[in-house]
Amino acid sequence: MANRRRKKNNRNRIILNCTKYLFIITLIIFVVVLIITSIFKPEDKQDEPQSSDTKITSQENTGSSAENGTDLPSGTGIAPDASDSPSPAEPAPDIDNAWAMFLVNSVNPLPDNYDSLIETEVVFKNGDREFSVDARIAPYINKMVADAKDDGIDLAIASAYRSMEYQQFNFDRSVQQRINDRGMTYDEAYADTLKEVALPGVSEHNAGLAVDILSGEYYSFDDDGFKNTKAYAWLSEHAAEYGFILRYPESKEDITGIIYEPWHYRFVGIYYANKVNESGLCLEEYFIEQGWAGADGVATEMTVSQSRTPAEIVVNESDGEAQVNIIV
Ligand SMILES: [Zn+2]
Repeated sequence: MANRRRKKNNRNRIILNCTKYLFIITLIIFVVVLIITSIFKPEDKQDEPQSSDTKITSQENTGSSAENGTDLPSGTGIAPDASDSPSPAEPAPDIDNAWAMFLVNSVNPLPDNYDSLIETEVVFKNGDREFSVDARIAPYINKMVADAKDDGIDLAIASAYRSMEYQQFNFDRSVQQRINDRGMTYDEAYADTLKEVALPGVSEHNAGLAVDILSGEYYSFDDDGFKNTKAYAWLSEHAAEYGFILRYPESKEDITGIIYEPWHYRFVGIYYANKVNESGLCLEEYFIEQGWAGADGVATEMTVSQSRTPAEIVVNESDGEAQVNIIV
C-alpha cells in the first residue's frame, strides 16, 4: 500500500516537474519572443509615420485643406522629412536687400523725385564734411569700415550720397574746369566730363548706394593709383561680404561707359555682390546675362522679389523708354 502511494507520489512529482519545465520553457520562449518583438518594433514605428508623412505630403499636394488642417500639427515627422527631400521653398536662395539690385546708368536713370523717396544717414565725417548713404545700407558700410580698421586698414569715404542738385552742380563745374584749364570747347568739355561725371539721375551716388573709398595711403581721384594700396587689396577681398562690388572695373570701360574707378563701390546686397563677383561680369553685363536687361542695356524687368523694403523698386521698360517705377 505504502509502495503504491510512493509510486503515485513519484508519478505526481514527475508530472509536476514536467509541468514546471514546460512552464519555464514556455516562459523563456515568451520572453525571447517579447525581446525580439521589442527590438524590431521601433523600426516598424519609424516606418509607419514616414509612410503616413508621405500621405500627408501627397494630400498637401492635392490640396485637401480640411485634412491638412488636422494632419499637419500632429505630423511631427514632417520637418525631418522635409529636410531630407528638398521642398519647393528650400532651393530659393537667401537674397538679402533685393531692393538694392537695380541699374543706375546713362540708359537707366532714376526718377526725378528719387531724392524725396529715400532717407539718408551720415556714415562718415572728414573735418567739416559729412558723408551719407541710403539709411538702409548704413549698417553695412559702418561694419565694413570698422572691420577694416580692426585689420589695420583705414578706409576713408571721399564721396557718398549726392543730391540731384549737387550732381548737376558737380557736372557743370567739371565742364567749366575743362574749358578753363584745358582750352576745350563746351561740346568737347561736356563729352569729356560725361566719361567721368554722371548727369543727375544717372549716378549711383544719387541713389545713396555708392561710396567712393580712398585711404591715407593714397587719397586722390586723379588717377587709379589707389589700386596699389593695401586698402584696395582689402576691399577686393572683403567688400562683397558687406554687399559691395567694385562697380567700374578695369577693362569694362566700354560696357559701363565709365573709366576704371578703383574707389567706387556700389551696394547690391551680400547675395548679389558675391554672385556678380563670381560671374566676373560688371553689373550691366550681369543684368543682360540674367535677362533683366536687353542687349541695349535697358533694364526691362526685375525678377528678384524677396526682402523688399517699403521703397520697392522695379525697373521696366515703358513706351520704349527706360523707367524706374518706385512702389512705396
Ligand atoms: Zn563714385
